[in-house]
Amino acid sequence: MRIVIKVGTSTLAHSTGRLNIRRVEELVKVLSDLKNSGNEVILVSSGAIGMGAGKLNMKEKPSDIPSKQAAAAVGQCELMYTYDKLFSEYNHTVAQLLMTGEDFNVENRHTNFSNTMNRLLELDVLPVINENDTVATDEIKVGDNDTLSALVAVTVGADLLILLSDIDGLYTADPHKDPDAVLIPEIHELTDSIMALGGDAGSSLGTGGMKTKLHAARLCVESGCDMIIANGAAPSLLYDICDGKAVGTRFIAGGK
Ligand code: GLU
Repeated sequence: MRIVIKVGTSTLAHSTGRLNIRRVEELVKVLSDLKNSGNEVILVSSGAIGMGAGKLNMKEKPSDIPSKQAAAAVGQCELMYTYDKLFSEYNHTVAQLLMTGEDFNVENRHTNFSNTMNRLLELDVLPVINENDTVATDEIKVGDNDTLSALVAVTVGADLLILLSDIDGLYTADPHKDPDAVLIPEIHELTDSIMALGGDAGSSLGTGGMKTKLHAARLCVESGCDMIIANGAAPSLLYDICDGKAVGTRFIAGGK
């Protein structure tokens, strides 16, 4: 399978903004093993701004653009340093790709991206993708990594996109507020009532929330790619997903 896995800041970092070493080590180990068993793995990793803010001892995630971009510049280094070091332990080579919205909208850039990705995968490299937060401003940015990962999955013709988040999947209501909320295991159609479950909020470190995840689901299923939302707290659940077990919420692509 060609799988795109997106990890959010809340999965990679502690609430202090500092790297969650145990979590990242587990994630890298599982992804390496999935690659060893013959899957093509592409990682879309958030965390640049959150980790940069942690490293720069900022008390919370910055809100003004220059501070965000400065934090991203610092944090992206730490992210890639960590991935390079940990994946090397399992003999895997990583590549960094930093994207803006234009890379998907302008035809020759989109083609270049697609060609580069295919070549990297042929070379058995594990691409690690993030938005180019140091240059992306409103006019050119994708805006969130849920959408970015869906654009990547569609571009490379992935079989599956997995969004690892701090929630088990999509619930019938907000599980933090409603004790009767239940997890929806499978969604075959993104009806208005499903889209309305998106709400707004994200955690203090990440950008997404359910709304952007549902938007990503729409992009994926319309292009024939399944998408799963699952909890990133235990990366080993990726094995279950690849074994075809029901984990989190699965959005089934049209026609399946
Ligand atoms: N690109 C952002 C970062 O690396 C994250 C965006 C997102 O989580 O949606 O901090």
